[in-house]
Amino acid sequence: EFAEISLRDIDDIAKSSFPMCMRHLFEKLREEHHLKHGGRMQLGLFLKGVGLKLDDALAFWKAEFSRKVGAERFDKEYSYSIRHNYGREGKERCFLLFKTLQFLFMVLCVMITIKSVYFWALQDYTPYSCQKIISSTPGVGDHHGCPYRHFSEENLTAALSRMGVNSRAVGDVMNKVRNKHYQLACTLTFEAVHGSSCDSGINHPNQYFSDSQIIMK
Ligand code: SF4
Repeated sequence: EFAEISLRDIDDIAKSSFPMCMRHLFEKLREEHHLKHGGRMQLGLFLKGVGLKLDDALAFWKAEFSRKVGAERFDKEYSYSIRHNYGREGKERCFLLFKTLQFLFMVLCVMITIKSVYFWALQDYTPYSCQKIISSTPGVGDHHGCPYRHFSEENLTAALSRMGVNSRAVGDVMNKVRNKHYQLACTLTFEAVHGSSCDSGINHPNQYFSDSQIIMK
């Protein structure tokens, strides 16, 4: 469990401890000041998982999106889903739904409906696992997904060198990728970048982050 990360440090932390899937989204957001829905969900939930508080998350996304769509449109169209990722909108919605359904209960006595709607409204999104990210299907203009699964060989090799992976390790990573062992490829990258073994393997981007932070501290 890690304490909150601050906005001031986020660029350095992204470089040192984000797995490639999140690093890519982070860089694209900084570059294009926008991410499509799949990217916003994948990165947003990861950032929540690494300890970025709601207020900082809103400030972070707003600073980027405002440069592309303006602050007003951000507040209208995008801030809702960020709060929702943190369970805030769900809880407000839950209260309204509860009141409405309380009335329905008295009238219709539909206990099962109330229960299922209640749990739907209360749900709190959790960060995506590697399996979920690897099996996603990014379309044109999307930046989410797992680079080991979704990048071309050329783009993946370039991304690995940008992370400081030496050419021998790049060869080993690419062998795993060709055999469709994407998480093993990510594990080898982790080991090359950190100069340290990762015996448990990588199965979650937030685990990559926390294992990295343990080594960095
Ligand atoms: Fe991200 Fe997991 Fe793919 Fe690594 S293996 S890049 S952590 S989705």
